[in-house]
Formats: sequence, structure tokens, C-alpha cells
Amino acid sequence: MAKLLNDRDLEFQLYEVLDTESLLQRPRYAEHDRAIFDATLNTARDIAAEYFAPHNQKGDANEPTFDGEKVTLIPETQPAWNAFAEAGFLASHHDFDDGGSQLPEVVLRASMAYFNAANVSSTAYSFLTIGAANLLKSFGSDELKGKYLPSMLDGRYSGTMALTEPGQGSALGDLRTMAKPADDGSYRLFGNKMYISGGDHELTDNIVHMVLARIEGAPAGVRGISLFLVPKFHVNDDGTRGDRNDVALAGLLHKMGYRNTTSTVLNFGEKDGAVGYLVGEPHKGLGYMFQMMNEARIGVGLGAAAMGYQSYLEALDYARDRPQGRLPGNKNPDAPQVKIVEHADVRRMLMMQKAYAEGSLALCLYASTLVEDAHTAKDESERKAAAELLDLITPMVKTWPSKYGVIASDLGIQVLGGAGYTREYPLEQLYRDNRLNPIHEGTEGIQGIDLLGRKLGPKGGDGYAEFQRRIQATLDEAANLDTCGPLASQLTQALDTLKSVTSDLQKQLAADPDHGLSNATMYLDMFGKVLVGWIWLKQAMAAEKALAAGASGSEEQFYQGKVHAARYFMNWELAPLDGYARLLANGNRDNLDMQNDWF
Ligand SMILES: Cc1cc2nc3c(=O)[nH]c(=O)nc-3n(C[C@H](O)[C@H](O)[C@H](O)COP(=O)(O)OP(=O)(O)OC[C@H]3O[C@@H](n4cnc5c(N)ncnc54)[C@H](O)[C@@H]3O)c2cc1C
Repeated sequence: MAKLLNDRDLEFQLYEVLDTESLLQRPRYAEHDRAIFDATLNTARDIAAEYFAPHNQKGDANEPTFDGEKVTLIPETQPAWNAFAEAGFLASHHDFDDGGSQLPEVVLRASMAYFNAANVSSTAYSFLTIGAANLLKSFGSDELKGKYLPSMLDGRYSGTMALTEPGQGSALGDLRTMAKPADDGSYRLFGNKMYISGGDHELTDNIVHMVLARIEGAPAGVRGISLFLVPKFHVNDDGTRGDRNDVALAGLLHKMGYRNTTSTVLNFGEKDGAVGYLVGEPHKGLGYMFQMMNEARIGVGLGAAAMGYQSYLEALDYARDRPQGRLPGNKNPDAPQVKIVEHADVRRMLMMQKAYAEGSLALCLYASTLVEDAHTAKDESERKAAAELLDLITPMVKTWPSKYGVIASDLGIQVLGGAGYTREYPLEQLYRDNRLNPIHEGTEGIQGIDLLGRKLGPKGGDGYAEFQRRIQATLDEAANLDTCGPLASQLTQALDTLKSVTSDLQKQLAADPDHGLSNATMYLDMFGKVLVGWIWLKQAMAAEKALAAGASGSEEQFYQGKVHAARYFMNWELAPLDGYARLLANGNRDNLDMQNDWF
């Protein structure tokens, strides 16, 4: 098996591109130093390699089973969960007072990249628990937090997000699960949820479902949705586990990938109603849940990036080892075969994989610094700017790595040829696992509509202005650099194109929303390319600086690789934007005008 990730690249991202060490100046991190960040990353890598990676294939080949009473996972899943929890990762970003280690968001997410690269489906239980605990912490009453949070932070309880229903996926405003008020101030929930990841298993003493439901008599649509905490088992006042709540596992879904994560259909209220506790105020549930969804969207992007990265490293190892054919200029049949990495077309595929995988990882880590800044930056204006920019780019952070991570896995299969298609190699599983990411946490189509229709709208917004300010600052800084100057010119052109298309689409949107949003996914892709182009320029600038400072040997090669990948990105990934821009600016109606009966 290839390395989980390139440690040198992670170090480069954190300390040379993102200046993670500057966080040590913030009061929250005064007790930390870089050695603690590094030790955390090393621990994550070691646990991922020892407890998660070895059963990745086994979990894929042996799906969870349900005998009507209990769910059974392959036994290796439990020690992996325990190792993750015992190392403190469930609580790592929480306050010291709450048993956490006040780890910066970006260090936590970089650590999660190792787990995702090792075994995304076993990691999903932890990933969801972290998000559910954050949600409870932000919006739960002190009583609820006191009862459930400590156990979610130390690994005795796990968490889920229960939004989707058999009839309602993308259109959450139509969800039907009903909550009836009970005399004791709690609620009784009735309804069905579907696709709920980690919705049942025996890994933990209890499962805390964060459920969206509609209180009886609530208004229709998104304004009538509330958030409830619904435990699998009741919890007694002394903290011990009580009886089973009225939440039943109706069945497990069988999936293309992510197989060691249980995907459940849950019935709430088959008997007297599942006891649920309102989180926050009535009817504000979807707004609260957006915290978890936005966090999960960055996490989905990160997972996709990590699997794309794994696919790249696996393909690279193989290509350096596999002899096949000779270069076109060599007509001598007695000459030894070359390794396939020598073939230009194989390098093309590896180049694309590198650009997608490293670019995606860098994008997700950048987004994590915005999460951090939104909470801990020094002054209010910095915090606000970070939050607005994050809000704008979240659709791309979720979608770009998801789309191009799958392409990186697909290219990995192609690099291996027939071997890539067999189950002897991990590429086909990586491809299947990765294929979920454009679907869950809001499909690609929904993200495009969110970006153009809601985040930008007919007028743009503060996040868009902040994006332009920041990218322009990078372009100005790069303009005078020998290597990055020409790359900056190419990106400037792409940015101008994006700005002009944005304003054309905003006009179309104002005139006719159906028409204005009809090509939103293509626009999302275009914005994503410019965004990742910016992220690549930042990497190239850090590399140019290091090269100018005299990097040599393997370090020089590492930095040359960065600069070259940035060059590839500006040449090949940004070039097609002009064609798309014309279609978008002209308000192309090919998709919109196609009639149902014409298919
Ligand atoms: C493995 C897996 C794990 C999951 N885990 C969870 C979980 O833990 N918790 C949870 O709550 N949910 C979970 N989900 C559900 C997931 O979030 C939904 O599948 C997803 O949001 C899409 O909903 P849907 O499947 O109902 O598809 P639909 O909403 O029916 O969408 C089908 C297609 O129509 C398009 N479409 C729908 N509406 C529009 C529109 N208005 N405009 C344009 N296009 C549209 C979509 O983009 C998509 O291409 C999971 C799903 C899977 C497969």
C-alpha cells in the first residue's frame, strides 16, 4: 500500500502556505507550540495506519449485517473507534475545561485527512460524532449538554445527523417527521428517516441522533422545522443507560462503497413515539443544522481529497514500478522496456491527479483556516470577513474535491490499466468509496443553486467582495515574481472571465430565476476552478520563495513539482473556461429548453 498522504506536502500546506504557527499568537493557543501540532499529526497518521488502513478492504468485502436485533460490523472497527477516541480526537478542538485539548481546526482537519485516506467508512462514525457534538454544544440547553456531551467527547456515545426521509432528500423543507409535545416538556417523534449514516451499531453505549422534524401545527416549509436530540437509549438522571427509546432500525442499505459505515432506515415512533428533546428554539432547526451541514460539507470535501490523494499515490507507486513498452523515439526491440511513468500520457494522468488531489487538500485546509478565523481571529471584522468568505466558498469546498477526487480515482484506475480494474489493487474501491461524495451533504446540483441563487443572488454579497479582495492581493503579490508572475497573469484572466460571467448570470437570475439557475452547476465548476487556481498560485509562490532561498536535493524536487503543477493547472484547467463562459454569458438554454417528451 502507498503512503496515506505525502507528509511533506501536509507540512508544506500547514506551515509554508497557511502559516499555522501564527495561530500560536492567539490567546486560545498560548499553551501550545508547533511540536504539539506535529505530535498530533503523527499520532493521527500512526493510528490511521495501525487501526484503520488494515481493515479498509475487509470492511468493503464484508458489509454490516442486521439480524433483526443487532448490527454486526467486522470486529476491527471497534479497536479503530476506541483508538480514535482514546487519542482524544473526538474532543481535540474543545476547551481544556470540557476535556478537550483546544487544538486549532486546521490541525484537527489535517489529522482527519489521514483517517479518511486510510479508511473513510470506519472514520465516518467519528466524523459524524464530532459534528453532532459541535451542534449540541452550540445550540443545546445546559441540561442536554450536561447529559450527553461528555459521553460524545470521550467516545462512549456516537452521533448522527438525521435529515433525509424516504420521500425527501434535497428538498428538506418538505420533510414530514412529526414531533408532538409531551406533558413533561419533551416531544414524541413519529416518522421515517433514510440513509442515516451510523444510525445503528454496537460500537458505543448509545447513539445520539440529531433529528429534523416538524412540531405539530408548525408552518410549512423550512420555517417550520425544528431540531431534536433523540437518543437510541434513554439516559437516566444519574447518567446510566436506561431502556431503549422508540427508534427502530427498519433495515440496512447496501451500497456501492463506504460499506463499513452503516446506512440505515430508521423508524421513529412505531409504538408511543420516540422521546426527543428540542434543541434551541422551535422552528429554527434547519438554521442550526446548517452548522453541522456546513462543517460536514468541508469534511466531505476533505474526505474526497484524501481519497483522491490516495489514488494518486497508489498510481504513482505503480507507474514507477511497472515496465511496459518503449518511448516513441526508440525503435530498438532489444532495448529494455521503460517504466510506464516515462510515457507522456501516463505523466499526463499523474499530473492531473496531482493537481486535483493536492489542490483539493489545500483548498479544504484553507477552508479550515477560515473556520478557525471566524471563531478566534483577533478582531470582529476579521472574524466576520472569514465567516462570509467561508459561507461563499463552502459549495466549492464540498463539490470541487468531490468531483475531481472521483476523477483522480478514475485516472488512477487508468494508470494501472487492467490491474486497476481488479480487486487486487485498491483503486476500484477508492473510486467506489469516493463516488458518494458528489451526492451526500447536498448534491452537486443543489450546491450550484446554493452558490448562484442564494450566496451570490442578483447582487453578490460581502463574501464575494472578500473573495475578490483576497485573490487580488495574491495576484498583486505574485505579479513581480519571475516564475509566478506569468501564472498570475493567467489567473487574472480567468478571474476577469468569472467576474464578467457572474454579473451576466446575476442579470439573468433577476429577470427569470428558472433560466438564471439552469446552468448553475457549470458555473459552480467554473468558480471552483478559479478558486483552486488561486490555491495553486499560493502554493507556487511558497515554492518559488523556497527555491530562491536555495532549496536543494529532494526539497528542490518537491518545490519544482509544486511550481510545475501550478503551471499545468493554469494552462490546462483554466483554458477551457473561456468556452463555458461564452455559453453561460449568452444564457444558453439547451438544457432548459429540452422537453421531457423529447428524451
Ligand atoms: C451513503 C449515503 C449516506 C448518507 N448519509 C446521510 C446521513 O447521515 N444523514 C442524512 O440525513 N442523509 C444522508 N444521506 C442522504 C443524502 O444527503 C441524500 O441522498 C442527498 O441529499 C440527495 O437526496 P436524494 O437522495 O433524496 O436525491 P434527490 O433529492 O431525489 O435528488 C436526485 C437528483 O435530482 C437533483 N435535484 C433534486 N432537487 C433538485 C432541485 N431543486 N434542483 C436541481 N436538481 C435537483 C439532485 O441534484 C440529484 O441529482 C446519505 C446518502 C447516502 C447515499
